[in-house]
Amino acid sequence: MTARIRFAPSPTGNLHIGTLRTALFNWIYSKATGATFVLRIEDTDLSRSQPVYETNIMEGLEWLGLTVDEGPTQGGDYGPYRQSERIALGIYERAAETLLEKGLAYRCVCSEAELDAERAEAEAAKRPYVYSGKCRKRSAAEIDSLIAEGKSATVKFHVPAGESVAFDDIIRGEIAFDTGLIGDFVLVKSDGTPSYNFAVVVDDSMMAITHVIRGEDHISNTPKQILLFEALGAAVPRFAHLPMILGPDKSKLSKRHGATGVTEYRNQGYMADAMFNYLTLLGWSSPSGTEILSREEITPQFALDRVSKSGAVFDITKLNWMNGQYIRRQTPESLWRLTQPFISSEMTARLSGYSDEQKQAIVMSVRDNLDLLTDIDRFIQVYGWTESEFQDQIKSGQALGTGDRTVLAAFRGAIEEIEWSPATIDQAVLDVVTATGLGKGKVFKPIRLGVSAAGSGPHLGDLIYLLGRERVMGRLDFVLETLGVKE
Ligand code: GLU
Repeated sequence: MTARIRFAPSPTGNLHIGTLRTALFNWIYSKATGATFVLRIEDTDLSRSQPVYETNIMEGLEWLGLTVDEGPTQGGDYGPYRQSERIALGIYERAAETLLEKGLAYRCVCSEAELDAERAEAEAAKRPYVYSGKCRKRSAAEIDSLIAEGKSATVKFHVPAGESVAFDDIIRGEIAFDTGLIGDFVLVKSDGTPSYNFAVVVDDSMMAITHVIRGEDHISNTPKQILLFEALGAAVPRFAHLPMILGPDKSKLSKRHGATGVTEYRNQGYMADAMFNYLTLLGWSSPSGTEILSREEITPQFALDRVSKSGAVFDITKLNWMNGQYIRRQTPESLWRLTQPFISSEMTARLSGYSDEQKQAIVMSVRDNLDLLTDIDRFIQVYGWTESEFQDQIKSGQALGTGDRTVLAAFRGAIEEIEWSPATIDQAVLDVVTATGLGKGKVFKPIRLGVSAAGSGPHLGDLIYLLGRERVMGRLDFVLETLGVKE
């Protein structure tokens, strides 16, 4: 039988890092083992689920390239893949009927107030709360008449007491729960919608899911789900519970740690490949310990039994570093394509005088300065000043003094007739160092200021080469004249 796995997000908010990591581990597992990857939208909470969130989830998956084999938009033989559509088809209702008929479930008419009172009593007695099972002991006729009196009913699952439910978690090994501590739980709410645990099991069994890979926060649901699989006469899947993602202070990752929606990371200039790589390391490590790995390298090495049991810290500094590493690997063409959405319309207009090839060279010249793609606009500004803006900055700036005239005049002479290339320009700068006998800093700095009016920026040879001989000569003439006037 082919393995089938599922990613089952609830569209009640934007896709966040933790949920994306779950999707990612499922996807890699499916690629590593040939399993079918199913996307199921768990929108049973009709009031909190929204189509915009579903769209946001899909966008996040698409951004990282996590292709889905079966799902709401892909279709498949096990649909529909949205729980709201499955509710409309009466799928959960029928499954609940089956359990009621088998005597494994019962109707409960206890009100919230009654249940709260039971809970308060347990708390006062300092014992863990489990439902008393009051309605289990009521006859069908009694329940019917209470409903006729206006009480609303839920369907509850009868958890057999005094047993142990155990499973062999792929990541954590054997985990066992005492059924006495679980207590009867709701399958169908009073509004007729299924509870999370019930819908998941009905769907996992009907969709022939063989492996459930999800966050550790679901461990306590697993024994309930196993009991339900058994009650429905369905095969119990294997479970793998992924470690939580923690903030730097080791508490659960939250908005406090900047855990914004995944698409925000995209908008902030993180690269999909870097995010993919970084997220794989949140709980998994390669046998060789290598950290920068492409998806092609990760997939064959990936195994759930190499996933750690302990929480993984989301370290934004490391993610930024990794993003920078991926940026450093880009070619002029790919870097231009990636950075283009982050170049403002103003900057685009300012660069309009450059050819496409020059624009690629411009982004390349600042490549090693970028951690995020959004940094691009700031770093390439130096290429966009008009001559009058440059001149205004020189006139108002204090950074250049008359003492810099010698260096600038020597540099002007050194580049006037050379073949125009970054390498020959670099050599010309070094020649000025030799000729003047000044330290590198005393030569590089004024030249940079004298051609760009900025104290720092791209590699000097690249910058000067791309600004072009004519513009650079004009600027040097202006600066020399200005410094001369100041004298
Ligand atoms: N809808 C659940 C969630 O988003 C899915 C849990 C599961 O994978 O069973 O947490």
